[in-house]
Amino acid sequence: MTSPVWHPFTQHALEPTLQKIAATDGAYLIEESGRRVLDAISSWWVITHGHRHPLIMQAIRHALDRYDQIIFAEYSHEPAEDLARGLVKLAPAGLNHVFYSDSGSTAVEVALKMALGTFHNRGLTRSRIVVMEHSYHGDTIGTMSTGERGVFNAAYEPLLFGVDTIPFPDPGEEQQTLDALEHLCSSGQTAALLIEPLVLGAGGMKIYAPQLLVQFREITKRHDVLLIADEVMTGWGRTGTVLACEQASVAPDILCLSKGITGGALPLAATLATSEIFEAHYSTERRKTFFHSSSYTANPIACAAAVANLDVWCNEPVLDRIGKIETLHRERLRRFENNADVADIRQIGTIAVVELAVPASGYLSDVGPKLRRFFRERGVLIRPLGNVVYLMSPYCVTEADLNLAYDAISEGIDQLARGAL
Ligand SMILES: *Cc1c(COP(=O)(O)O)cnc(C)c1O
Repeated sequence: MTSPVWHPFTQHALEPTLQKIAATDGAYLIEESGRRVLDAISSWWVITHGHRHPLIMQAIRHALDRYDQIIFAEYSHEPAEDLARGLVKLAPAGLNHVFYSDSGSTAVEVALKMALGTFHNRGLTRSRIVVMEHSYHGDTIGTMSTGERGVFNAAYEPLLFGVDTIPFPDPGEEQQTLDALEHLCSSGQTAALLIEPLVLGAGGMKIYAPQLLVQFREITKRHDVLLIADEVMTGWGRTGTVLACEQASVAPDILCLSKGITGGALPLAATLATSEIFEAHYSTERRKTFFHSSSYTANPIACAAAVANLDVWCNEPVLDRIGKIETLHRERLRRFENNADVADIRQIGTIAVVELAVPASGYLSDVGPKLRRFFRERGVLIRPLGNVVYLMSPYCVTEADLNLAYDAISEGIDQLARGAL
């Protein structure tokens, strides 16, 4: 019997019927057969501490006794208020206002609308958005417009709006990126630079130095261009600090958070903005209102889960766990040095990357699906981005778990090289 479910990023003509997961536990997914599979990519980067962290589950249970969805115009509620205060405290100084939505894509859409609304309400005509080559900001039409163009969005190209792109700062070519940004910002047309700080995730886990982020901030500030930090993936410890921006001591004008905001338990997003941006919309003139909402804005159960997540960050040694994972990655990645089948190894925080030297790289390269199947057979969920194999596990992962993942990667690369996959 075929399922009516149409899965995301899934070519159903090539994939067998998807197995069901019966339960989750820490770093593991448990298949219906009882087989445990290591979730080495945190269920698409959302699970931070581990599946079903007890404090977060308990907060959800408590919230269920009092709330379901509550309209978020007309009324507010305690979980949203507590969370907003917590997020402002956690974020770089100056990000004093919190706007809720329900996914990473909507967090970025909100950010873009805030940026354009700010200039519009000031009577200025800045409306260009600058983005970085290889970036990814979501799958809605607006966020696809700001992301790398390719096979993912070719069909929708006629609907996508134009943006200005700066090159990815490859080592030794950083100045070209900075010059391009300086040039675009000096046009007077640019509203904002939208950037993934330190790591471009879906674009292939490409890493650049914090110092560049410092320079992006300086250039944008000098030209009165807003800096939007999309920390949907990098946030919540992935790069070794709670937020990636911290490593550059950079405060963006707008900050997008989602994925790990609830520890991965429930969908929620927040877009934080400075007082300048809030005040550009603050007026007795109704036309200056920030006109955005989604039905499930600030869902109280999700907000309660996020408040509990903040408590976990405050009360548990999360950064110590992350530090240990960092060290393990650094050691384990060494085995791929001087491997002819490996083009590059790189690491930042809890993200470890092994980029394979295969002729046909890119997302549609068939090494991805071949390796994915092999890893699943070995009891590890890893989904390579084309020829880019990466680990981004929950922070409860053990040394033995990571060894399992690294052994699977080693063996997968060997088998691939021998033509055995
Ligand atoms: C995942 C991601 C998004 C989109 O988030 P969704 O919740 O999938 O809409 C946006 N930006 C970045 C950097 C992401 O990694």
